[in-house]
Amino acid sequence: MTPPHLRCLSAPGFYWSPPSSSLLLRKLAMSVKQRTSYAEGKPALRGVVFDMDGTLTVPVIDFAAMYRAVLGDEGYTAAKFGSPGGSVDILHHIETWPPQEQQRAYEIIADFERQGLDRLQIMPGAAELCGYIDSKQMRRGLITRNVKASVDLFHRKFGLKFVPALSREFRPYKPNPAPLLHICSSWGIPPNEVMMIGDSLRDDVACGKQAGAFTCLLDENGRYGPIDSLSKDLQPDFQVSSLSEVQSLLDINFELLQHPQTTL
Ligand SMILES: [Mg+2]
Repeated sequence: MTPPHLRCLSAPGFYWSPPSSSLLLRKLAMSVKQRTSYAEGKPALRGVVFDMDGTLTVPVIDFAAMYRAVLGDEGYTAAKFGSPGGSVDILHHIETWPPQEQQRAYEIIADFERQGLDRLQIMPGAAELCGYIDSKQMRRGLITRNVKASVDLFHRKFGLKFVPALSREFRPYKPNPAPLLHICSSWGIPPNEVMMIGDSLRDDVACGKQAGAFTCLLDENGRYGPIDSLSKDLQPDFQVSSLSEVQSLLDINFELLQHPQTTL
């Protein structure tokens, strides 16, 4: 049986479904790929960018309770309706509110995030995967919609440093591709040699696809269903149910190359 992470590979030698949203990016990606590919014809990969909450850390924030506290029961139900996987873009909702209400909402969110920090745990397989990426001398970056203080705590608590690590203070945040493009640029690596890994289709996969990077959805509980059931513009290139699957996914599908020597 086809392993779950290879479900998108429909034919021998077909290892990649490039971003469908941009033909130009796809053409650019293909030309760079041809320059950097090795004999086996695998695309090159030099960097991996991770989401933090729910990807590098075990989800400990009760997001449903947080959304309810901010939006109210009715507002939460309305916001959930029609979102892929039932996920709510709370920051987007708040952005259009009057300053006073916005302030109150941010305080509620910060309170939930503080409670989450106390119980922070690293995702199983994360440390091993990072060690593997380091052993290949590839780059590791992080993009989160959480605040910088949470990223600092994550770095301190688990001794895993991601460079760059962009938090909510970097605007515009995910799903806008800007933070990912910023990381690629600071690395001196084209986006089509980078993979974005995250547990949110709407934030992480959308960000990665729009930037022209490879995308991998971490779907621990199968809440999104199979890749081909998702709308085309949000289909990730790969789907895993745990970070432990990612190392073999990288090995099988990519030529893992050392990053260029840039000063970060
Ligand atoms: Mg997440």
